[in-house]
Amino acid sequence: MKHNFSAGPSILPKEVFQQAANGILNFNDLELSILEISHRSKDFVEVLDRAVALVKDLLNLPDTHKPLFLTGGASSQFFMAPMNLLPSGQTAHYVDTGSWSTKAIKEAKLFGEVNVLASSKADNFSHIPKDYKVPSKGAYLHLTSNNTIFGTQFPSFPESPLPIVCDMSSDIFSRPIDAEKYGLIYAGAQKNMGPAGTTLVIVNEELLGKVDREIPTILDYRTHIKKNSSFNTPPVFPIYVSMLVMEWVKKQGGLEAMQKRNEGKSQLMYGEIDRNPLFKGVSAKEDRSHMNATFVLKESGLEKEFLSACDDAGCEGIKGHRSVGGFRASMYNALPVESVQVLVDVMQEFERTHG
Ligand SMILES: *Cc1c(COP(=O)(O)O)cnc(C)c1O
Repeated sequence: MKHNFSAGPSILPKEVFQQAANGILNFNDLELSILEISHRSKDFVEVLDRAVALVKDLLNLPDTHKPLFLTGGASSQFFMAPMNLLPSGQTAHYVDTGSWSTKAIKEAKLFGEVNVLASSKADNFSHIPKDYKVPSKGAYLHLTSNNTIFGTQFPSFPESPLPIVCDMSSDIFSRPIDAEKYGLIYAGAQKNMGPAGTTLVIVNEELLGKVDREIPTILDYRTHIKKNSSFNTPPVFPIYVSMLVMEWVKKQGGLEAMQKRNEGKSQLMYGEIDRNPLFKGVSAKEDRSHMNATFVLKESGLEKEFLSACDDAGCEGIKGHRSVGGFRASMYNALPVESVQVLVDVMQEFERTHG
C-alpha cells in the first residue's frame, strides 16, 4: 500500500477518484463522458454552479466575494492580482515568506510600487516575520498563507487596514478563515483541492474597476464574474474533480473538521521529529506548517538510507525540495492519519537501526 506525501500534485480522496472515473466513462448516466460534452450543457453548468456554491458554503463567503475557476495556475495570479488591483502610482505591500512570495513580488513590480514589508529571507525562510505593522496607505497586503517549500504557515493573520490578497495554494480548505478580511484569495487546485489545471480565485468585486490601465479581456476578473467562469472553455475536468473534493470536505464536517484532523496529523508528525534524536525540524516551532512538515537528519550521510526505508514502507514523495534539502512530508486534507503513523514507524525503526 502507498502512502502519498507528495507536495503537489498531491493526494486526493480515494472515493473521489472512483467518482471521477465514473464521470469519465458515463457522466450522470448520459452514456457520454464529462470530457466530451459542452461546457454550456445543463449537466456541466450544474457542476460549475455546485462548485461555486460549495466554495461559498465552505468558506462562508459574503455576497461581495465571487468564486472563479480560472486557468494559468496560481503563478498567473502573481500578475493578475496587481494588474487588476494595483493602480499605477500606488503601493502594494508584500510579506516575503518563501519562493512563491518572491515570485509574486517580482511580477507585481511590473504594475506599480511594491513595498516588501517584512521578509524572513535572511533565515532561509524558516519562520514567518512578525515585527511589522501594516500601513493604512496602499492598495493591498499580499501574504502567502502556507509556504509549501519551506514548511511554514501563518498561525494567524496580521491586523490589516488594507484588503488582504492571499496565496492559499497549499492550505485552502484546511482550516476556517475569516473571508471578510480578504480582497482576493487564490489557490492552484493541485495541492489541497483537486487536479492541476484550474485555479480557484475568490475576489471581492467591490475592489475592481479602480485601475486605469487597459486589461486584456481574459485577464480582467470582471469578465469571469460576468460570464460565470465560462468566458472561454473552462477546465471542465479539474472543476468537476474539485467539486467532488469539496463535497467530500463537506461530508467530513467542513473546515472545522479538516482543521482538527490536520492538527492531529501534524502533532503526530512533529512529535516524532522532536522526539527522535536522529532528526530535527527545519522551521520555527510556532510557525510550523500543518500541511508540509520539513525536517532533516542531524548528521548528514544517511539521507539515501532513510529515503529507501521510506520507499520500502510505501511512503512516497518524502524527499525535500532542493532549496531546503532533507525531507518533506506533505499532509494535505486527504492524507489519512494512518499514513502519518506509517512514516513515524519508519523513523522509529530507523532510530533502532541507525541510532
Ligand atoms: C504550488 C504553489 C504555487 C504555484 O502554483 P501553480 O499552480 O503551479 O502556478 C504558488 N504558490 C504556492 C504557495 C504554491 O504552493
